[in-house]
Amino acid sequence: MAGHGYKTRRFDRVLDAFASRTGTSVVLAVLLLACVCIGLYVNSVVVQLEEKHAVFRDRDGRNGYVAISDIQRILLIAQTAERRGVMSEDLARDFAKATDVLYVRIEAFRKTIDDRTRTMYGTAAISALENFVSIADAAYANQFSNFKDSHDALLMAATDARRLLVQFLDEMKREADKLLETQSAAVTEQKIILLGNLAVLTVIILGAVLLLRREVLARRARETAEKRVQFLAFFDPLTQLPNRSQFQDRVQELLDEKRVFSLLYVDLDGFKLINDTYGHDAGDHVLCHIGNRIAVHAADYDGFAARLGGDEFAIIALTDNQVKLASLCQKLLQETENPILFEGENLDLGLSIGVATTSQVGANARLCLDLLSRVADFALYASKSAGRGRYTFYNQELEAKFQERRSMLEELPTAIENDHLEVHMQPKVSLSTEKTYGFEALVRWRRNTQLVPPNSFIQIAEESGLVVDIDHYVLRNATKFVADWNKAHGTDFSISVNLSALNFTSLRIIEWVQDALWASLLKPDLLTLEITETMEMRDWKQARSIIAGLRKLGCRIAIDDFGTGYSSLAYLRTTAADELKIDRSLVMELESSEKARLLMSSVLDIAKNLDFQVTVEGIETQAQAEIIRKMGAENAQGYLYSKPMLPADALAAATEEDQLAARTGS
Ligand code: C2E
Ligand code: CA
Ligand code: CA
Repeated sequence: MAGHGYKTRRFDRVLDAFASRTGTSVVLAVLLLACVCIGLYVNSVVVQLEEKHAVFRDRDGRNGYVAISDIQRILLIAQTAERRGVMSEDLARDFAKATDVLYVRIEAFRKTIDDRTRTMYGTAAISALENFVSIADAAYANQFSNFKDSHDALLMAATDARRLLVQFLDEMKREADKLLETQSAAVTEQKIILLGNLAVLTVIILGAVLLLRREVLARRARETAEKRVQFLAFFDPLTQLPNRSQFQDRVQELLDEKRVFSLLYVDLDGFKLINDTYGHDAGDHVLCHIGNRIAVHAADYDGFAARLGGDEFAIIALTDNQVKLASLCQKLLQETENPILFEGENLDLGLSIGVATTSQVGANARLCLDLLSRVADFALYASKSAGRGRYTFYNQELEAKFQERRSMLEELPTAIENDHLEVHMQPKVSLSTEKTYGFEALVRWRRNTQLVPPNSFIQIAEESGLVVDIDHYVLRNATKFVADWNKAHGTDFSISVNLSALNFTSLRIIEWVQDALWASLLKPDLLTLEITETMEMRDWKQARSIIAGLRKLGCRIAIDDFGTGYSSLAYLRTTAADELKIDRSLVMELESSEKARLLMSSVLDIAKNLDFQVTVEGIETQAQAEIIRKMGAENAQGYLYSKPMLPADALAAATEEDQLAARTGS
């Protein structure tokens, strides 16, 4: 098979060389040369043929000419005898011999004439010769008794025979010339036909050569296209690095070969900001630059780099040596120590890295691509939650956390089914009246004896898609509880429910909200849906139309966690919302930092300009509350007022406060 492949490749190479401009020219030149050679050869053959014919013609007439000299010889003997006056015995013998020779010659001559068309002159010449021979014979038989008469008779017969012979030979020559003429005409005709055929053949071969060249060029174009498709199947077109698919194949290969190696997940910190602020060209430049650097470092460790998508990269290093890996990570982090220059702009970027080695991951579990990826991802996640710009090795401690995550992931579906989720509620307070006007529903998981906070499982639920079911659960229960409470106590409390971005991929959420409203009979404007901008929701037409659909039902939309770095101003302007929730991170330093106060007041200004009602989250101190109140914020939420509580407790406290206020008339 291999040999065959090699042969095909060699053949392909020959074809390729042939199809090149020089190749085709060479082939055509050789073809023309061959034609010229064949033409010359044909010509030389024809000439040879003509020469052969000439030789043949000479031989035809030879018997006739020799017969003349035979006659001459006999006459010579006779004349000698006449001169001497006697026919000696010697002369008589010579005479007889010469006559015999002539006789034989006549026979041969007759045969040549028989072979060809017998002509009048030919027959006459033969009879004259025969006549001459019979006179000679008669003279010999008479012992040359009447020699003088015989001599005269011989002379006469000889003259006759010679004349007729010459006539015959002339005729034959004429005939032969005529024949030669027709023959050489035929040969010329053949020559023309042959050369014509040769020309036609040349044109055909020429056509074939050009067709073949076109075919080869087309094949080559096809091959280039195929190569491009193959490239796209296995490489990222932007960075030219292997893509996720190739990466997975190669990791699987290493696993199959039981090799020791490490998987590093590399994530760019602040990439989204660069993309948003400086545009996609800047983003592409950053990806190419970093991708290239990562690949160079990976090669130093006998490994390779891949782009898994977005701003995620992966490295395979063929070592599990922690010291070596740490130095690799250091080098990677150094790559972003200085800003990347792009069209005069300094682009600031960071890296977070998660490292998993086959020896560690394989120590307690069956090693597979999926497990290795999840472990590396988990280590990366640890780097990010520890503040980004660092690397984390997967270790015992992480292993425990990872196992915990895994078991949570396994248990979560049954927890939802078996009602192990609890909805707690945190009051939302009006800053002007300091009274609770509504609540935010916050989910918890009663897991064995523990009450697990959402931060420990919401991300897992988001990754597995289960968060949608959790949100649905909280939506139904919270609306029902608050609506029932309002009805029973004559209150008008509102409720805010968190919706993960995953809900905004399907129109189903509109139905769910509608069902919840109908089932609970809650007034729609008392329901607020809190959404957080995430990567998936950005530029998403569908998300916007779902938001519009939800507002059509009459409920309110709040933009959650503003100020965590995820939400942008563009997002604020284009999202049709009623409320803006300012994140705790903007609150924490309000008392100590002038900068924080400046930031808060400008965010509040923007919110006012955009007509958003504002809720500031995470108010823990009276001083913080005072600051934001003075800045014009309307509502607040935080431990200062209350931690999240069980719904009955939260509503009872708020109702009591309400009734107390009514009694004191404030
Ligand atoms: P969030 O939507 O920003 O909710 C506010 C979080 O801040 C709550 O944490 C709340 O307990 C906490 N908090 C409120 N006031 C203060 C304060 O003064 N100081 C401090 N340090 N924290 C305060 P929690 O309940 O742990 O929820 C965390 C996050 O989990 C929520 O942040 C929300 O993003 C998510 N989450 C909670 N419930 C759900 C849910 O039903 N569905 C979805 N999709 N996410 C939920
Ligand atoms: Ca919220
Ligand atoms: Ca929030």
